[in-house]
Amino acid sequence: RAKLDGGGAARRFDPALFALEEQRRKAEGDIIRALDEGQFEVHYQPIVDLDGEQTVGVEALVRWQHPERGLVAPIAFLEMAESLGLLPRLGGWVLEEACLQAVRWQRQFPGFEMNVNLSASQLSNPNLVAEVRGVLERTGLEPEHLVLELTESVALTDLVESARVLTDLKSLGVRIALDDFGTGFSSLSHLSALPVDVVKIDRSFVQAMPESGGASVAEAVLHIARTFNLAPVAEGVEDAAQAEWLRDLACSRAQGYHFARPMPALGVTELLDKQADKEIPLAG
Ligand code: C2E
Ligand code: MG
Ligand code: MG
Ligand code: MG
Repeated sequence: RAKLDGGGAARRFDPALFALEEQRRKAEGDIIRALDEGQFEVHYQPIVDLDGEQTVGVEALVRWQHPERGLVAPIAFLEMAESLGLLPRLGGWVLEEACLQAVRWQRQFPGFEMNVNLSASQLSNPNLVAEVRGVLERTGLEPEHLVLELTESVALTDLVESARVLTDLKSLGVRIALDDFGTGFSSLSHLSALPVDVVKIDRSFVQAMPESGGASVAEAVLHIARTFNLAPVAEGVEDAAQAEWLRDLACSRAQGYHFARPMPALGVTELLDKQADKEIPLAG
């Protein structure tokens, strides 16, 4: 009977679609309010040099300090924010906040590096290069201490366009990291097409450390990194055995719960203070 009345009308009032649309509208309102009211925070996860296990930089990771839900991880809101077109604004805020913080930490640790993630919509935003330049100027961060991370899936949506934007970004003096490396497609051909400086080895490969000396994807990725003259960073190192194994494979940098979890800025400041204390031999 519904068909005779016109399927189109029936579809227009699909309650599931209506509920979804309602949800999006509510999410949009919530995220915009959160931006206006300053509910987002940047947490930072240390990146360590595997010889000596010194913190040499951090990755900025956004969090939502939600009035009712508490601290919300990015997986719960980033995709929605991206689909609503809010990532350029949210990501721009993260970038500025992270760069300001990096300048402060450089007083404790000269050369300290800041890694910031970029989303697909940020990369395709024609103002991105001007925005990054503006943030560097306003915060005073030297560009060589900023690393912009993007995943293969983001970089590969339009390879030619990505290569152009990344080249423009690099002309500012910043570096580019390919995030979650190895989880995308035909990575090799893309590596040579994209002006990338760093590869971050996805944690799935780091955690698949061979039990007894077998070869692994992580080793293959490290080999590729060396071949292309890229600096490798291992992600998701969760125990001492993985750290040791990576050290044996001459992977110089790593990140993971074994060293430190993402934490508010103050935690990193304290960590750098402790690190500095260790370097200065105390008299008496
Ligand atoms: P990612 O860029 O690959 O960041 C690493 C993620 O792995 C973080 O999750 C971090 O907390 C987690 N992680 C670090 N060490 C370990 C470990 O030892 N074990 C395990 N199981 N996980 C570990 P988080 O903070 O939930 O972020 C998830 C993703 O959200 C990030 O993955 C990144 O793609 C995205 N993201 C986070 N902040 C931003 C941002 O400001 N902008 C954009 N565009 N994306 C962001
Ligand atoms: Mg990342
Ligand atoms: Mg990653
Ligand atoms: Mg990852």
